[in-house]
Amino acid sequence: MSVQIDTADHEAIVTRLEETRAAIARAAHDCGRDPGRITLIAVSKTFPAESILPALEAGQRVFGENYVQESMGKWPALRERFPDVELHLIGPLQSNKAREAVALFDVIQSLDRISLAKALSKEIAKAREAGARVPRLFVQVNTGEEEQKGGVAPAEVDTFLTACREEYGLEVEGLMCIPPFDEPPSPHFAFLGEIAKRNHLHALSIGMSADFEAAIQLGATHVRVGSAIFGAREKG
Ligand SMILES: *Cc1c(COP(=O)(O)O)cnc(C)c1O
Repeated sequence: MSVQIDTADHEAIVTRLEETRAAIARAAHDCGRDPGRITLIAVSKTFPAESILPALEAGQRVFGENYVQESMGKWPALRERFPDVELHLIGPLQSNKAREAVALFDVIQSLDRISLAKALSKEIAKAREAGARVPRLFVQVNTGEEEQKGGVAPAEVDTFLTACREEYGLEVEGLMCIPPFDEPPSPHFAFLGEIAKRNHLHALSIGMSADFEAAIQLGATHVRVGSAIFGAREKG
């Protein structure tokens, strides 16, 4: 059985998606950046396939999800209809879900510890051997050094990146951060940009619904926008 969403919701999602794209383009132009170099990741966590379809039909192809289990439930069927979808895992990943994550996601943004690097390295090697495509990787950095939050501590990022490359054969494409709730995000975005620069990484996944414009000013190559497109999520 499928959840019904009415036409008004359907149209609201498409309208908000278009408004978000326009806002990204404006923010890019305002700081002299090419909007084509900024990828909008539509964050569809907690929303059913019925809510995701209007965005797909409107041409959106890059999506973000937080939970492996939830994604396994909704994306395989959507992918059959839209094979060129690019799926990003932006939520914490348990090492025992590494196999599923490697099979399902095109990009994993939450690589944040050695045990996970090890698990991903093993699963990626197996996937390569089987001729399957393998995910691109971002390292999550805990820029606010919050205890409850995932991410590598800022002081340990350089060493972690070296270990990923040299010990685990993992190529890391960029960095991701989620600034603390109660702090202005821009200093965190700028800080992550500095860490990326000194490590010669060009991709920066920063900015969510409330602050993607500021993130674009500070060099975001990927913005992760959920509620501004799909509406408010139920508190879980
Ligand atoms: C949920 C989530 C988002 C989207 O947040 P919104 O405020 O709804 O845009 C972005 N990034 C991460 C890591 C998330 O968990």
